Amino acid sequence: STSVRLDRYLKKALSLARAEVQLLLARGEVFLDGECAKDIQQLVGEFTQVVVAGRLLQNRQPHYIQLHKPPGIVSATRDHKHKTVIDLITADCAAELHLVGRLDFNSTGLVLLTNDGRWSRRLTNPASGVEKHYRVTLDKPITPDIVAAFTKGMHFGFEDIITRPVRTSFTDPLCVDLYLHEGRYHQIKRMFGHFQITVLSLHRLAIGNVVLDSKLAEGEWRALTAAEVSGLG
Ligand code: URA
Repeated sequence: STSVRLDRYLKKALSLARAEVQLLLARGEVFLDGECAKDIQQLVGEFTQVVVAGRLLQNRQPHYIQLHKPPGIVSATRDHKHKTVIDLITADCAAELHLVGRLDFNSTGLVLLTNDGRWSRRLTNPASGVEKHYRVTLDKPITPDIVAAFTKGMHFGFEDIITRPVRTSFTDPLCVDLYLHEGRYHQIKRMFGHFQITVLSLHRLAIGNVVLDSKLAEGEWRALTAAEVSGLG
């Protein structure tokens, strides 16, 4: 599902010898996304439209979706017991989709789905550091010490890592907004758990420039706009 060189692509797709591939190109019979291809080194991606001698060889469409996840739904493509986020997507492309980062079973809010592996890898790559915005409610108030610990980074013994700085913002210390640049397993619950605070609810409001659409009720979804897709990638 990554890019391949045009000559390799054509050799494989049409079982041709190298000389035959060169001949097709010289005759101007190869079109990539509607443009006549000249260079055998050009890259063919998963979603590049390929036409050879008037025949459509490949024409897959990328799909990008935002979903308002309800509680009690599994962030997976398949589960033997519970409904999954994929079960909520009522579109033909649903079976092709994968998740871009998960939310816990009872967590709610923004989940992104796509069939574009390059796009989702860029997003989930820890080095990209895309900011995720969460709102949590707590059983005990957050304190200045906890805010300081989140900002400084906390030691997670199991992974033996220091969490990246997490910014907080709140007026009510029982309802706190958090901005994370990574996503460790149950990260927010574990950060508060360290201070004997239980997270009562956890809601994701944004991933990078994609903000959960306020028009989407729980369980509803829509395609991302072009600006949302390009802004994240
Ligand atoms: N942190 C958590 O603990 N749970 C989530 O679902 C996301 C971040």
